[in-house]
Amino acid sequence: MSAPAFQFDNTYARDLQGFYAPWKPAAVPSPHLLFFNRELALELGLSPELLDGPEGAAIFAGNQVPDGAQPLAQAYAGHQFGGFSPQLGDGRALLLGEVIDQFGQRRDLMLKGSGRTPFSRGGDGKAAVGPMLREVLIGEAMHALGIPTTRALAVAGTGEPVYRERALPGAVLTRVAASHLRVGTFEFFSARRQTEQVRQLADYAIARHDPDLAGTPDRYLALLRRVAQRQAALVAGWMNVGFIHGVMNTDNVAISGETIDYGPCAFLEAYDPDAVFSSIDQGGRYAYRNQPLVMRWNLARLAETLLPLIAGEASEGAVSNAVGQATEVIDAFPEWYAAALLGGQREKLGLQTGDDVADSTLAADWLGLLHQYKVDFTLAWRRLADAAGGDDEPLRALFPFPQAPDAWLARWRARVESEGGSAPDRSERAERMRRVNPVVIPRNHRVEEALAAASDDEDLAPFRRLLSALRRPYDETPDQAEFTEPARAEVTACYRTF
Ligand code: AMP
Ligand code: MG
Ligand code: MG
Repeated sequence: MSAPAFQFDNTYARDLQGFYAPWKPAAVPSPHLLFFNRELALELGLSPELLDGPEGAAIFAGNQVPDGAQPLAQAYAGHQFGGFSPQLGDGRALLLGEVIDQFGQRRDLMLKGSGRTPFSRGGDGKAAVGPMLREVLIGEAMHALGIPTTRALAVAGTGEPVYRERALPGAVLTRVAASHLRVGTFEFFSARRQTEQVRQLADYAIARHDPDLAGTPDRYLALLRRVAQRQAALVAGWMNVGFIHGVMNTDNVAISGETIDYGPCAFLEAYDPDAVFSSIDQGGRYAYRNQPLVMRWNLARLAETLLPLIAGEASEGAVSNAVGQATEVIDAFPEWYAAALLGGQREKLGLQTGDDVADSTLAADWLGLLHQYKVDFTLAWRRLADAAGGDDEPLRALFPFPQAPDAWLARWRARVESEGGSAPDRSERAERMRRVNPVVIPRNHRVEEALAAASDDEDLAPFRRLLSALRRPYDETPDQAEFTEPARAEVTACYRTF
């Protein structure tokens, strides 16, 4: 007998009965691994020798349920584009179970694309190779950029077609997350007036993500505050790398503060706060600039579910008091977000000290300049690091005429050099800036090209090369050069994600 591949310890299955449907993944004809994340496997205490082969393919395609797993489909609801859907749930995903990683953190393992479940509604429960490999690329890029995110452990091809506008090769993704608790999970029980279930869920979330709050008297309000603070930091991180999630429905907002559910997401190229790439986001609800506003709106939906818990059973007036307390948290979100955004911008600008008003004006004017001249967001920040080292020309070359940034550059230089202007200060600052301003991001055209080769021609070489570049986003070595260039403006202007 060999040791089991996973040491599962399944608290969701054990502690939250009634919050899910036990279910089995569908069998597929021809499981084969398209991607296996060795580094993440080791972090999870799993054996790559055991899993990076046929046995792993059988598990990650859903054909074999590993010992100790208790596959289940989680119930959740969600506000989708502003409208409430009382029942969504895992329509094409199954939680396999939880493992404790090398840092002592509990992590969920979930299959996505593993067949129909009781929550599938009209859907087929399946996933295609392209979108699942897309989730790998964007998730690994976000991780390398230091942004909290779910990550892909594996993608298994199924040997079975999936029917979208056309037949596509099918795949199953194995996703690792700090948990799959969503704002929508709370909404599911709240909408049914199942206050005891909401309480059970909140206590479970606290045990998992904020254990220091367990048993404290004001823990539900404190949980709301923690979730809001995590999301403020998360969205600020997105904004500072030019990430557009694309579907910020409440079922895609994780209580853990990780980025979850990479669908029609994309990165900005030329800076445009109104950028929207998702084909389903007709009204631009989830445009780049709206992300902090939408997150606050989503957190207000979470707050509503927690009101009865915050109020408790106590005195009269408890409910209106709870509304007041929850409102304070929601009203504090913009400040938390602004502080996190400015903190990140300050690092990107090469500043070590703080002058809140002056620095936010400096940052806003910089972004205004990038917007006015349609400059590539990622390259502009990166070339600012060169300017910090004394060479303004690469930055000036990004503008339609080289003098365009000069007046702003003079203001910025006066500000940074107030912190030290000697030659060693300058090169140290430039190096520091290169560690926070990436040169490689998932360029939309490179992602599409890699996915097309994988999906249409079974050629994984471009995917692998792009992935390895995305895993070292701050390195500007010659082999990275081909991944740093933006698409031609006309290409980006018509880019649509699905
Ligand atoms: P998403 O927009 O990917 O966050 O998904 C929203 C809801 O639709 C969730 O309940 C998903 O489980 C469900 N869903 C998405 N795609 C499928 C599919 N192919 N089959 C069944 N359910 C799906
Ligand atoms: Mg989702
Ligand atoms: Mg999705």
